[in-house]
Amino acid sequence: MILELRNICKDYIQEKMVIPVLKNVSFSMEEGEYVAVMGPSGSGKTTLMNIVGCLDQATSGTFWLDGQDMSTCSENELSDIRLKKIGFVFQNFQLLPRQTALENVELPLTYAGVSRKERRERAAQALARVGLEDRMQFRPSQLSGGQKQRVAIARAMVNHPKILLADEPTGALDSTSGQQVMDLFQSLNEEGVSILMITHDREIAGYAGRMVSIRDGILRLEEQP
Ligand code: ADP
Ligand code: MG
Repeated sequence: MILELRNICKDYIQEKMVIPVLKNVSFSMEEGEYVAVMGPSGSGKTTLMNIVGCLDQATSGTFWLDGQDMSTCSENELSDIRLKKIGFVFQNFQLLPRQTALENVELPLTYAGVSRKERRERAAQALARVGLEDRMQFRPSQLSGGQKQRVAIARAMVNHPKILLADEPTGALDSTSGQQVMDLFQSLNEEGVSILMITHDREIAGYAGRMVSIRDGILRLEEQP
């Protein structure tokens, strides 16, 4: 099992009021699965993703990632796990604007302490993998939305994570670029990468092997899309 969530609750405190955002979410994912999470705006999708991505911790419940109980990890251990096991892709790409595509992709390798030469090589390979070998020295402002997202995918994959977490990865893209992103996800999944993808587009969700839906913080398992 790559992911296992049991009775996960997440509350936010807003002006002394407790706001329950995730309500007893139980969900698991086998290694190599490709799952889409669908739900309307405000339903708790990003909150769930932040917990699964070890960016935030649940209020209660248990969460295992790759067989390891995350609730007992320190901040340092969590950031180490994020770096080694998880790749992130966001709707708005989250690239550093003043860095080239190559430098953006190198960043996780820098954090991982990889030597400069190896960083260059691996980042260049990752960019070639997403079809951007001729855009390595471009900055984000010189790239189209689809190209930016492919840089972000290269960055997410450069450390060979076990799971790719994608929050509305096609949300800011036209349909052709969105299709390219879905093709990339498909081939990564065929290579064994587990993928958890948030979307509110049913057509995009159809690329996944399985779909779950969330509404008002309650997760429901659905049939095959
Ligand atoms: P989605 O990604 O499905 O649109 P979110 O997970 O971003 O939904 O948000 C779910 C709910 O949690 C919303 O009602 C939102 O207002 C609330 N929420 C999200 N983050 C915070 C926060 N940091 N503090 C308080 N409330 C939050
Ligand atoms: Mg969201």
